[in-house]
Amino acid sequence: MSDTPADLAEPAAQDTELYAAARSARDRAHAPYSRFRVGAALRDDTGAIHSGCNVENAAYPVGTCAEAGAIAAMVAQGGRRIEAILVLGEGSALCTPCGACRQRIREFARPETPILVAGAEGVRTRFTLEQLLPASFGPETLDAAG
Ligand SMILES: [Zn+2]
Repeated sequence: MSDTPADLAEPAAQDTELYAAARSARDRAHAPYSRFRVGAALRDDTGAIHSGCNVENAAYPVGTCAEAGAIAAMVAQGGRRIEAILVLGEGSALCTPCGACRQRIREFARPETPILVAGAEGVRTRFTLEQLLPASFGPETLDAAG
């Protein structure tokens, strides 16, 4: 698959790249306690893809989500805008981002930013950030305070 603008404009091609990156990350997840592995992959405003997986800890609250890992990777590489993010879980239930991760995504996304939720068979459904985190608190809230 090439990275020509035509390919990047094709939603299916974007989904395929994000899915593959999320699956690779999920396969490396550290989830010995829940045994629920999650992978996330996002595309930033430069077209680069960043991925992350859940990393659990024996001290349970210290564990981190896949989305947090992908966002940290993006920021470390200089990215500041999420154009799309895909979350891949296991099992039959929709693995949507947890509440904290919806807020983490919010920091770097727009209301219309797509959030794709995937399972073993591929992308199951897509939401926008606004659908998953309506009337949200973000950087503009602080800006408006002067
Ligand atoms: Zn989370």
